[in-house]
Amino acid sequence: MTLKKVVLIGGDGIGPEVVSAAVRILENLDVSLEFTEAQMGFECSKRTGHFIPKATMEALERSDACLFGAVTTPLDQKQRSCILYLRKHFDLYANLRPVKRLHSSIGLVDLDMVIVRENTEGMYTGVEHEDSEGVTLERRVSEGASRRIVRRAVDLCKSEGRKRITCVHKANALRKSDGLFRRIFFEEVEGQGLEVKEMLVDAAAAALILKPKDFDCVVTLNLYGDIISDEAAALVGGLGFGPSGNVGDKYAIFEPSHGSAPDIAGKDIANPIATMLSSAMMLQYLGEKGQAARIERAIRLGLEREIKTMDVGGEYRTTEYTEALIKLLDEV
Ligand code: ATP
Repeated sequence: MTLKKVVLIGGDGIGPEVVSAAVRILENLDVSLEFTEAQMGFECSKRTGHFIPKATMEALERSDACLFGAVTTPLDQKQRSCILYLRKHFDLYANLRPVKRLHSSIGLVDLDMVIVRENTEGMYTGVEHEDSEGVTLERRVSEGASRRIVRRAVDLCKSEGRKRITCVHKANALRKSDGLFRRIFFEEVEGQGLEVKEMLVDAAAAALILKPKDFDCVVTLNLYGDIISDEAAALVGGLGFGPSGNVGDKYAIFEPSHGSAPDIAGKDIANPIATMLSSAMMLQYLGEKGQAARIERAIRLGLEREIKTMDVGGEYRTTEYTEALIKLLDEV
C-alpha cells in the first residue's frame, strides 16, 4: 500500500477517546498511514474562536481521508453542524451506514444490511425562512442527487454481493418530492439484476424490528436515513455499534453514527466499536480490504470471549477494551 494521509478529528465529548482507540488498532495493522491531528468543534471554538479552523480545512484538503469522532453543536449557538458543513464542502453525497449484529449476545435482532442515505439535501438543506407566523423549511429533492445516490447504492450491492435493494420513502404523503426520488429509483435499478422493493418509511421502521431478514440494502432520503439507521444500530447493540462513511467522488470522511455523548465523556467508558468499524470502512475505501476485515473479526472474537465494554454488559473500560482487542489481532 502506498502511504495514505489520514486526518484525525477527535472533536468533542467522547470523540477524542473513541478516535484514539481506533487509531491504536490501525497502528497495529499492516497498513501504511500517515496521521495528522486536526481540531474542530465546540471545545476548539472556545480555544481558538473558530469551530472549523482554516488549518483544519487545509489539512483535510491535503489528505486522502478523514476519521472523525463527534462534535457538539450547542443549540443556542448560531454555528451550523460541522459535519454538515464538511459533507457539503466536499460533496460527500452518500452516507453509508452498515448495520450488522456481530454476536447473538448483543442486540435484539439479526440484521445484516447497509443503509445508503442521501447526504446533501432533503430535510437538511438548512434553509429556513421565518415570518411573523412561523418558519418554513426548504426541503429539496433533485433528480441529480437522487440519481447519483441510487447509482451508488446499486454499485455497493454489486461490490458487496447484496441481492435486494429497497427504496424507503413517503411518496404517499410527499407526492412530488418523494415521488421524484421513487421514480428515479425505479429507473436506475431497472435491469441491474437486483431484487427491487419499496417501503414507506413508517412501515420500514416497524419492519426493521418485525422482519429484519427483509432488509439487505436500503436507499433513502436524508432524514429517513438518519432516523432508521439509529433505530437499526439500536437493534444490533446500541449506538456504540453504528459505523458510517460520508463518501463523495473524490473524498470521504468516516465517523461513528453516534454523537459526542457529553454525559459519558472523559470517563473511559465509551464503546469505541462504532469508530473502529468506521476506520475499517476507511481502510476499505483506501484499498485495504484485507486489513479492514481483521478489525471486524477481532471485534467478533472479543464478543465471543466476553471482551466488551460496559454499555453492553461488559467489564472493560475503553482503553482496556482497546488493548485487549490489539492482542486479538494476532489471532485473526
Ligand atoms: P450529540 O449532541 O453530540 O448528538 P448526544 O449525547 O445527544 O450527543 P449521542 O452522542 O448520539 O447523542 O448519544 C446518546 C446517548 O447514547 C449518550 O448520551 C450516551 O449515553 C449513549 N452513547 C452514545 N454513544 C455511545 C458510545 N460510543 N458508547 C456508550 N454509550 C454511548
